[in-house]
Parts: sequence; C-alpha cells; structure tokens
Amino acid sequence: MSRTVAVVGAGWAGLACAVRAVHGGHAVTVFEAARTPGGRARRVDAEGGLALDNGQHILIGAYRATLELMRTVGVDPQQALLRAPLALRFPDGGGLAIPAGMKPPMDLLAGIAGARGWSWRDRYSLLRTALHWRARRFACAPEQTVAGLCAGLRPRVVDELIAPLCVSALNVPVARASGAVFLRVLRDALFSEPGGADLLLPRTDLGTLLPDAAMRWLSARGAAMRLGHRVQALQPDGEGWRVDGEHFDHVVLAAPAWESARLAHATGVADAAAWARTAEALAHEGIATVYLRGAPSWPGLPMLALRGGPAQFVFDRGRLGGPQGLAAFVVSACGEARDALEAQVIGQAREQLGWTGLAPVQTIVEKRATFACTPGLQRPGARVAPGLLACGDHIEGPYPATLEGAVRSALEAAALLD
Ligand SMILES: Cc1cc2nc3c(=O)[nH]c(=O)nc-3n(C[C@H](O)[C@H](O)[C@H](O)COP(=O)(O)OP(=O)(O)OC[C@H]3O[C@@H](n4cnc5c(N)ncnc54)[C@H](O)[C@@H]3O)c2cc1C
Repeated sequence: MSRTVAVVGAGWAGLACAVRAVHGGHAVTVFEAARTPGGRARRVDAEGGLALDNGQHILIGAYRATLELMRTVGVDPQQALLRAPLALRFPDGGGLAIPAGMKPPMDLLAGIAGARGWSWRDRYSLLRTALHWRARRFACAPEQTVAGLCAGLRPRVVDELIAPLCVSALNVPVARASGAVFLRVLRDALFSEPGGADLLLPRTDLGTLLPDAAMRWLSARGAAMRLGHRVQALQPDGEGWRVDGEHFDHVVLAAPAWESARLAHATGVADAAAWARTAEALAHEGIATVYLRGAPSWPGLPMLALRGGPAQFVFDRGRLGGPQGLAAFVVSACGEARDALEAQVIGQAREQLGWTGLAPVQTIVEKRATFACTPGLQRPGARVAPGLLACGDHIEGPYPATLEGAVRSALEAAALLD
C-alpha cells in the first residue's frame, strides 16, 4: 500500500532509502539540513571553482548495494570509478599487491608469495593465520581486538598490511578495533567473490558519484526534496508522525547517530528514548584530508600507503579527475588540530616521498567521520518505534561505518515500509 514517507537526511543512506521507497510506490519527501546532499561523502566547492571532497573515499568491489544504487540512478560505475586490484604499495615499492585475473583465495596466495620486502617467515605467518581464520569461518569472540587476532603475525605483516587495512576499513587502530568486524570485512572482500577486494577510486567528486544523480532521479519521479531544511521536531500523530508539523505515515531517520538520537529522544515515546540511548552511546573517530598542490605524479595506482604517519595514504587527484599536481593525504583515526596536521603532513611528504615545494590548498577535518568500531559494540537497530525507522552507517549490521554499510541499512529500512 502506498504511504507518505519522510526521510530525514540526504546522505548516502537517506538517498538510498528514498530511491527504494519510491520504487516501492510510496510518496517520499526528503529533508536535508545542508544545501548540498551527500552528508559525510559530499562535494566541497573550494576556491577558484575547484571541486574537492569532504574526505577522500575508497570503495571496493564487494560494495554490491552501492554499485547497484549508482546504476539505478544513472551513474555508470565503470566510468565513474577507477578499478584496480588491491595494492598496498609504499613509496619504496614494498608491500602487498594482489594480481589481477585470479580467483580468491588464489589471488591472495599469489599476492602473499610476491609481497616485496617480506621474508619467508613474514609470508608464512600470514598464510598460517589466514588459513586459521578461514577454518574458523572468519568468526571470533566479540571482545577480540584486531591486535589480539593478529598476535601470531610478524610485525612487518601487521605494519604493512593489517594496520593500513584496519584503519582504512574501520577507522580505528588495531589495538582498539573490533576483530569480529574486521574478519567479516576480510571475508567479504578477500575470500568471497572475484574482484571483491578490488579498489574502486572515484574519478569524479563525491557529489557527481551519487548524490547529484540520486537527487535528479528522485525529483523526476515526484519525490519532494527539501534541501536546507533541518528537521527540528518529530511528534507522534495518530498512527503516523509529524515532522515539523507536517503529517507522514512513516518517518525514516537517516541523520547521523547523534542527530537521530536527539530527534528520537524529543518524541517522548519510550521505545524511541531507549533507541536514542544506544545511538548516543556510540563514540566517534575523526578523519582529516589534507589537500596539497605541487605534488609530482607517480606510476601505477594513484594511491600510495605511507609509513609512520600522520597520513596513512596519499592519492594523486590529478589522475582521479582533479587538476594535475593535487594530492590528497588521508589521516584516519585523527585527533590532531588542522594547522598542526597540515605542517606535519608537509613534513611527512618531504621526508618519505622527497616532495618539496608543496602548498596547502585546503584541510578538511571531519571530527565525527565514523563511529568507533570497537569490540562488543552495541549498535541501534532499524526499528525505533511504530512507524518510525532509522538507517545509516551506525545501524546494526555486518559492516563498519562505510558507504556500503549506509546503503545496505537504508535498503533494509525501506523494505520495512512495504
Ligand atoms: C573523511 C571521511 C572519509 C571516509 N572514507 C570512507 C571510505 O573511504 N569508504 C567508505 O566506504 N566510507 C568512508 N567514510 C564513511 C562514509 O562516508 C559514511 O559511512 C557514510 O557517508 C555515512 O552515510 P549516512 O547517510 O549514514 O550518514 P551521513 O552522511 O552523515 O548523512 C546524514 C545526513 O543527514 C543530514 N541531517 C542531519 N541532521 C538533520 C536534520 N535534523 N534534518 C535534516 N537533515 C539532517 C546531514 O546533513 C547529512 O546530510 C568516510 C567518512 C568520512 C567523513
């Protein structure tokens, strides 16, 4: 039966939910506080007409729901994303790269055999540990950390493979990251389908990658898009809800955890208050992206892993749709202030890459980029109260805070509307 549905938030979850709800025949209104959609994965218009992102993003081949959503709204992933086999290469050529054209787990085995700079003991420790994880079906005790899981691995393997993978997927250092979630990501990326671990690097800004096309798709199908409208209050209204005074049969909260918790609390409904307490209890981690100009290009994948920090990765934006010489340095699990960070990253580029003469373009610090994906974490579910649902990367699900986690949770919430 067709219902009126309000979606609060036009991040990737809110947009995915709205698209799925329109498919389901519902009359959808999307409320978005900002003037641009996309939330934590959005375009940022910088000086001189330069399109940056609020943060450099990586997708992987296993992001099936996200890729399907892009196709639905008319974005061709093959054009919009640069696909390459997983490679964590350092500037000195060290590190692991998975060869193209092989099936899992043979591709990983070949990658381990060919890891540059690793001793046979390093390789053997990874092989033995990976087989052990597989024998246990990639499950572990909920309280296990990634560091605990990797106790049998040689330090080089942890430093050059596990730590960069963990911080880029979970945005938490190995000592505090959830072992169970990490194993699930590894299983889906590296051990499930061919190409699941492929890196998909956006060739466009993040607005063009999905939110702009999703907005056009939704508007063309009659959905009302209320940009610049920050929802202030939700109230129960018979069998439905009032959103800032306007009646809807269903409401889907697609704002970040803390904001959905604020709205849920203020309803005065007991179920919603209990839901809000779980959402509020989530801790968050920052990510900074330092954009510098004057960077040289390098051969191969336009992404390099870095040692020592503060940045863990650098991307050649000149080969990803941006102007030549623009580099994006990513500092995950970041707690530093902006100015200190910029200077440190310029120093890191000089020391590790030999790059001089770099000039700052913009540094964007997202203090609450992702929830802290720590062991035994309790996440809120999709049902908040009768007629009131929630979606977003923080909702209970298999993945850490990622685009795919956000999109999947949205599809699940939207299915509950039918
Ligand atoms: C710097 C950075 C780098 C990242 N890197 C990666 C990566 O490489 N790969 C990956 O998969 N993921 C990455 N992530 C995580 C990914 O961006 C998020 O998981 C995803 O964008 C979350 O989407 P969401 O829709 O759940 O929430 P959000 O994007 O937070 O969307 C919520 C929306 O609700 C709106 N809103 C809030 N309050 C209200 C209100 N009261 N009324 C109306 N609207 C409201 C907000 O403005 C926002 O647009 C990164 C995140 C950041 C910040």
